[in-house]
Amino acid sequence: MRTSNISGFYKLASAERLKILQAFAGLNEDELAVLSMKGALDELADRMIENVVGTMPLPLGIATHFMINEMDYLIPMAIEEPSVVAAASNAAKMARARGGFYTSSTEPVMIGQIQVTKLSDPSAAKFTVLEHKTAILELANRCDPVLVKLGGGAIDVDVRVIATDSGPQVILHLLVNVKDAMGANAVNTMAESVAPFVEELTGGTVNLRIISNLATHRLARAKAVFARDEIGGEAVVEGILSAYHFAKADPFRCATHNKGIMNGIDAVVIATGNDFRAVEAGAHAYASITGRYLPLTCWEKSSEGDLVGTIELPLALGLVGGATTTHPTAKVNVKLLGVRTANELAEIIAAVGLAQNFAALRALATEGIQRGHMSLHARNVAVAAGATGDRIERVAEILVKERKVRLDRAKEVLETLLQ
Ligand code: NAD
Repeated sequence: MRTSNISGFYKLASAERLKILQAFAGLNEDELAVLSMKGALDELADRMIENVVGTMPLPLGIATHFMINEMDYLIPMAIEEPSVVAAASNAAKMARARGGFYTSSTEPVMIGQIQVTKLSDPSAAKFTVLEHKTAILELANRCDPVLVKLGGGAIDVDVRVIATDSGPQVILHLLVNVKDAMGANAVNTMAESVAPFVEELTGGTVNLRIISNLATHRLARAKAVFARDEIGGEAVVEGILSAYHFAKADPFRCATHNKGIMNGIDAVVIATGNDFRAVEAGAHAYASITGRYLPLTCWEKSSEGDLVGTIELPLALGLVGGATTTHPTAKVNVKLLGVRTANELAEIIAAVGLAQNFAALRALATEGIQRGHMSLHARNVAVAAGATGDRIERVAEILVKERKVRLDRAKEVLETLLQ
């Protein structure tokens, strides 16, 4: 019988699991062979997740032309969507005229949340926690001597009382500098270890102890100037600004605006073995932090008429821990990028997000002004066909109307006008 109620699936070898799939879905040998391809992961796949039957490959493309902080980078991008790599490369090429991308970032500080419930005096509990901040930090740091030795570790405690459907709750934020790790395991371990002490201090009951993906203390920023004449002139600058203002005013457009940014960001996050769900969750939560869902980028016009783009978002990325240190392809991609710190990786990825957004907006804005371009082009074609004087405009008009801006058609139109 066809059932998904299979006990002990996890205990089976992947060949046996494949046999079950074959019976379940009537897969043939070729289909099983496709599923079971291990690629660069080989036997590692089985150790990375549970119930493994194979791997799911993605194309890996390299974006070119990126100059970031006056250094050249080749950017590995793992993505199934066409045009993303070409668009990023094209945007990076255009940015070079004004020096490429300039970036910065905050310290890699993550937030561990500890939820304290069942408190009759939540505000007093908040004060008690704050009084014992040093002891809490010491306790947290005992969990991770490696991180502390590297200059990281728990650095601060923040406490809020929030109103919830089940009454007031005290939410403790443990701020941890996670250095070159994404930090989830490190922070979760710390949050779990201080929880009993927090219960003792407050008399409340700790429920959740988990990292927040809204990493507001771990921001990456990038900036680029796109020279007006490099990107197609005044009309393109205005078109991009108008598109950006549309996204700022309308969440329906804004979702797609930010999706375009994440096309670039996720592709590099995946290529470096990082947790793209964590990055996605953080990015969209950050886009909504004012209470309105807003673009992650900002576009302005400089006094010279050039387009100036900036991006700021939380990027919780690691060079140690997670899949980055185990996935063979991720390891090579990190080497290709030549990054030495997680912050450097985050800044590069922010620059890619900005480039991707520019490319998308430019494509949309130029399609929007295509009519203007076509009529200019049609006049040139009319001249090339031999039209002079008033006839240039008349031939051009017919070509645009017919959407046949071609020399052969221009000649035919001109002949009929001359008859
Ligand atoms: P990890 O625990 O594997 O590695 C971090 C540890 O490496 C540190 O605690 C430290 O002891 C050590 N270390 C050595 N050199 C270091 C350096 N230079 N900088 C920092 N630390 C160094 O990994 P992690 O980054 O704590 O956790 C990442 C994993 O957690 C990811 O796989 C992610 O998918 C997963 N995860 C995510 C969430 C979430 O996002 N909500 C929740 C749970 C787990």
